[in-house]
Amino acid sequence: MTVQPQQMADQTVLVYASDPGEPPGVTPVRHPVPQLETQPFPTAIAQPAPQPDSAGPGTPAFRYWVAADALSSGSRMWGALVPSGTQWVPSVGRVLTAHLDEGVDLNAFYTRTGLEFFHRTVAGVEVFSAQSPEIVRHELGHAVLDALRPQLWNAAMHEADGVHEAFGDISALLTALQLESLRVTVLTETQGNLELSSQLSRMAEQLGWAIRQLERDAVDPDCLRNMSNHFFYRDPVELPPDGPANTLTSAPHSFSRVFSGAFLKALAGIFRQQPAQDQAALARAGEIAGQLLVDAIVAAPVVSAYYAQLAGHMIAADQRRFGGAHGRALRSAFVRHGILSLEAATSLTAAEVARRGAGLAEAMPGGSDDQGLTTVTVQGMAYGIKGPLVLNAPGEVRRFGIAGSDPVGGSLRPADPEQVATSYLEDLLRRGRVDVPQEYRSDTAVVDDNPSRFTTHEIARSEAAEGLALVRRRFA
Ligand SMILES: [Zn+2]
Repeated sequence: MTVQPQQMADQTVLVYASDPGEPPGVTPVRHPVPQLETQPFPTAIAQPAPQPDSAGPGTPAFRYWVAADALSSGSRMWGALVPSGTQWVPSVGRVLTAHLDEGVDLNAFYTRTGLEFFHRTVAGVEVFSAQSPEIVRHELGHAVLDALRPQLWNAAMHEADGVHEAFGDISALLTALQLESLRVTVLTETQGNLELSSQLSRMAEQLGWAIRQLERDAVDPDCLRNMSNHFFYRDPVELPPDGPANTLTSAPHSFSRVFSGAFLKALAGIFRQQPAQDQAALARAGEIAGQLLVDAIVAAPVVSAYYAQLAGHMIAADQRRFGGAHGRALRSAFVRHGILSLEAATSLTAAEVARRGAGLAEAMPGGSDDQGLTTVTVQGMAYGIKGPLVLNAPGEVRRFGIAGSDPVGGSLRPADPEQVATSYLEDLLRRGRVDVPQEYRSDTAVVDDNPSRFTTHEIARSEAAEGLALVRRRFA
């Protein structure tokens, strides 16, 4: 039996407010019955709403309400920050629909038609990815970023993927900050130093535990990923495609930690600048950091060295909205993670931002998928693919002439678009993340057809040009 929304208005449901961990170290709490029709990012769950009774952990009803609460709170948080008129990409439809159990896997996906979650039993424990509010808000983050910047979906560049994964983790973090109880807990846990590892910085403890039982070095020792980290920027075209979790690689969930780590430090710095160091100030710091990130995503051109460009645009957004009040916190955070070189950070003076900032306030979200991208055609044979292959490379012009740190000093020279795109393709193939249909494989194709390996891309006939194209199917 289902109930109507008006019947639910005064009722509450039991949910997890943060990732349960393993063994579950989080007590379920009572929240108002979540409203999924949240504008401008309405969501739905592809099954009828169960009774909002006292169903506890381990029941489908409990998982439903955890996911619904995470979707609703995440949508509300982002909805307050995005420019008016922002909406899901057209293929999603009016409402983003979540499928809570699509079979056996330790994963979750945003597919551009909806969200998909899975389950798997590991060491006797049934782990559902939809039962973690952090994972649900991470996937929702992919959909929100896609709405703001659809050009990142098919861009053949490591830094687009890295920003997507960082944005997902930031989505989980900023939504968690909406809860007063969690803000109080985190301030106690970190003694006010938000850079430290805490419930806020540790992502997806339970899924991390499950993966660790199968592959010890694939994730952090205490979670899936930790935003409290020291990973220093390297040009991803020079990084290995894969490696253990304690190393930096060009893989999206690894490389994202450079940006999400800097974001956590920026948040910590903005918090330190608040007049009081209490939970209300932490809520305010989250709003400021989230707003600056949204502003930067909407305004920054899609270029190689995209992390640096986003960092520069956050500093510019702060100049525009707050008169540069948080510039020191931002510069320090991005320099400490190497996203901005010292000379890049110090070159972004108020005068420089004003000189180059034309159009920042008028930047609009959305646009066509290939807007600002340029195509690079490579010979597929070198990659085990028959015929020419079209890649979408970063093609926009830099607003700020800035880049990341060169470890030997000064600034790195950003890679050219062709190198960015071909390096991206090679790494995807090295990680086995590309579906290549039989008809497009050369005799020496390297595709391994391991069904347990998830793919993010497919080789398909190009819609825009002659030959084949690298097409994204999902973000994990
Ligand atoms: Zn993701």
